[in-house]
Amino acid sequence: MSEPARNFIRARIDADLAEGRVSGVVTRFPPEPNGYLHIGHAKSICLNFGIARDYAGRCHLRFDDTNPIKEDTEYVESILEDVRWLGFDWGPHLYYASDYFEQLWTWAEALVLAGKAFVCDLSAEEVRRTRGTLTQPGTPSPYRDRSPSENLDLFRRMRAGEFPDGSRTLRAKIDMAASNLNLRDPVLYRVLRATHHRTGDAWCVYPTYDWAHGQSDAIEGITHSICTLEFEDHRPLYDWFLEQIGPAARPRQIEFARLNLTYTVMSKRMLLQLVREGHVSGWDDPRLPTVAGLRRRGYTPASLRAFADRIGVAKADSTVDIGLLESCIRDDLNPSVARAMCVHRPVRLVLVDWPEDRVEWIEAPWFPDEPGRMGSRRVPFGKVAWIEQDDFMEDPPRKYYRLAPGREVRLRWGCIVKCVDVVRDAVSGAVTEVHCTHDPTTFGALPADGRRVRGILHWVSAAHAVPATLRLYDRLFSVPNPASPPEGRTFLDLLDPGSLEVLQVWVEPSLAGCDPGTRWQFERRGYYVADSRDCRPGHLVFNRIVPLRDSWAKELARTA
Ligand code: ATP
Ligand code: MG
Repeated sequence: MSEPARNFIRARIDADLAEGRVSGVVTRFPPEPNGYLHIGHAKSICLNFGIARDYAGRCHLRFDDTNPIKEDTEYVESILEDVRWLGFDWGPHLYYASDYFEQLWTWAEALVLAGKAFVCDLSAEEVRRTRGTLTQPGTPSPYRDRSPSENLDLFRRMRAGEFPDGSRTLRAKIDMAASNLNLRDPVLYRVLRATHHRTGDAWCVYPTYDWAHGQSDAIEGITHSICTLEFEDHRPLYDWFLEQIGPAARPRQIEFARLNLTYTVMSKRMLLQLVREGHVSGWDDPRLPTVAGLRRRGYTPASLRAFADRIGVAKADSTVDIGLLESCIRDDLNPSVARAMCVHRPVRLVLVDWPEDRVEWIEAPWFPDEPGRMGSRRVPFGKVAWIEQDDFMEDPPRKYYRLAPGREVRLRWGCIVKCVDVVRDAVSGAVTEVHCTHDPTTFGALPADGRRVRGILHWVSAAHAVPATLRLYDRLFSVPNPASPPEGRTFLDLLDPGSLEVLQVWVEPSLAGCDPGTRWQFERRGYYVADSRDCRPGHLVFNRIVPLRDSWAKELARTA
């Protein structure tokens, strides 16, 4: 394995170890089970588990399940599956913030008794209104000076269910004039009657993120609590709480910039809307940036880990070009997947000088550049083949090395053929058949006369071709930054209607029994995966993972 890239987080950890502030490294990945994981989470997973691995420490998986209204076991299950699939193992360290509810409660009571928290009767709206602004201090709550014993009584009655939802909160008593708004008497508990996916109806008060998070870190002995930049302003509060409860060793919060990607959205709210309103087929729609979607699209765990390594971590927000992700999967698949032939938009090529029933079975290696690897398959070559429509032009421009009247090309693995005639549709005039002669001396051999034939076409024998469905996935949105739509429009208006094109195609017969989940390079086209749900023998379905490098598009543009 290569040396992990240096970054400011590792530098901080190194310093903490050198100064003896910590003796080992414990990190955590803390998802809220309110949606499926996306590639931004994958970045955080690779970072946290990667650091734990490199420092011979450990990384906990902790569900941050403090908001029962939005959470569900479906999300818990999917998150477990996705983290495992990415290649990480939390061992016995699977935790839930809800497991700590009792401990959090006890600490909150201690804050109340110490005069550092109070029960407030203001509504959420009133709390917001009296919070002040960046330039103006907040207004202290009229309930701020309740005695500890009155607060304790009210707080216990909140838990006992005596007050309606939203009627009372427990707030820390810090400083309503603090320049950091997070320190202006933040809420620790709210009354909320909602069934929790783990604790059921045991509680009708739930802790806020701020109160639950750092304390959960402390309970688990986390040394470095790595989170995204939006929590930077919460750090003083994170530290304040820890000072009050006073654990022996305090976790250190370190922030990094979240991942943003072009041509997609990463907000859970937007992803949820896309799924709920049916703009995509589900959380694993191959166009989504969810881990489940990328998996179904055919991305490999290694390609996502390589992507996380390549983007690194930074302290300033930025947006990564989705092309970088695409190049990571190409780099991973190029050396590892077999080549096969698939004709996407077929036209018939007929060898006029080939006997009607003759079929040659040609030995063709799965890895043309390393013929010994993984062996080979036999490809039938007969009188009629399917070729791509755009591999033939009646009136080709210069530098078009494919088929045209009077021109020669090689059929991949087969021989050189020469176009001698075409057949047209009587009505539309479109070419329906390309007629060729063949040079039998060129099977597996260069022309004896030294003439140069540059074009090599993929093809499939028409008599043996197997039908398949191809789903050509493209970017889901038509603009680089759909999360910031222009005035008067929403991100939904920016969906690209051409993001999925379905083609009925022909593949070579050796793919007939291929297993769901197997990946191929269809020569000259791109990388594909047999769909994990819908592909079965007799009903082949392939998803396009990514087209080949843009050389193909460039070639077309040049010759057009
Ligand atoms: P929300 O909190 O709005 O539900 P979230 O995307 O922050 O959404 P969490 O489940 O809280 O979701 O995230 C779990 C962890 O993943 C957090 O530590 C968070 O900082 C990190 N994370 C989330 N989105 C990204 C991203 N785009 N890039 C890097 N890390 C991310
Ligand atoms: Mg979050």
